[in-house]
Amino acid sequence: MPSSEQPRPNPPFTARYGTVGQSGEWHEAIEAYYRDAMPQAYAMASALGAGYGGSALRWYRMIEAEARVREIAQITAIAPWLSFEAAEELDDERRELMREACERVAGTLGWNFEMPARIAVLLPESDAPWHEARYGYCVDKYPYDKICVPHAAYADPATLARVVAHEYTHVITLNLTQARIPHWLDEGLAMTMEGAPPRPVETWLEPTALNAAFEADRREATGLARSGHAYSQAAQLVRHLRRLKGDAGLAKLVRAFTNNSVWDEIKINLLGEPSVEEALHEVYGLGQRELFAAAQA
Ligand SMILES: [Zn+2]
Repeated sequence: MPSSEQPRPNPPFTARYGTVGQSGEWHEAIEAYYRDAMPQAYAMASALGAGYGGSALRWYRMIEAEARVREIAQITAIAPWLSFEAAEELDDERRELMREACERVAGTLGWNFEMPARIAVLLPESDAPWHEARYGYCVDKYPYDKICVPHAAYADPATLARVVAHEYTHVITLNLTQARIPHWLDEGLAMTMEGAPPRPVETWLEPTALNAAFEADRREATGLARSGHAYSQAAQLVRHLRRLKGDAGLAKLVRAFTNNSVWDEIKINLLGEPSVEEALHEVYGLGQRELFAAAQA
């Protein structure tokens, strides 16, 4: 199975995923990581080691992988809104392919490149079981949103196009929904934008259970299968939305998370109504329960 068809994790370290290991002295290293100041982040992380009881190992490995690229990388501007870094020189085929993948997703979801992005190709050594996001990931950094692509995916142009389209979808959804988008919709959109083929869904999950399934521990076969099914179900849900109102509906939906009235915001912030309920009702006139029932049928 090509790597792009494996389930890929969402941004592991954005606010909604918590701040593992972000205690006291690690704060500065993590701050440097978010500024994408990789040499500084790595120097600080190396001095600190893996944290008390290995609590910061996750951060350490993530910083190490991105810093190792930076040490030997060439940085290239692909477009005013897109830069690229890798150990090897960028060839014309891949330059065009990555730009086209981003432009296609942006065109579909109505994104005007308001936030720049950086694509970084990780070294082959980082494609290892210790890395928690082996199939590519996207991090909401300050100077730009950063997409990290595994080396194996970069080597194969068709896979590269899919990984970039998938991760660039997260760049757009993260910004347009201000990270309010639920996991199922985020991954469903990314799977749709990468052109993932439909796959059977064994157990149809409710919204809360589906969101949780993306967090399954993927080191074992059962966890991997569980998250794989979650991606398939998410894609099926978004295909249903697409049948209802096409790409224009999807573009409206990602904007609908933030174009709210004061009363909408009160419901969301004070009464705890999931933001996605408001957004779905606004664009499709239905809520998650109705959508999940209709898409399963
Ligand atoms: Zn994803």
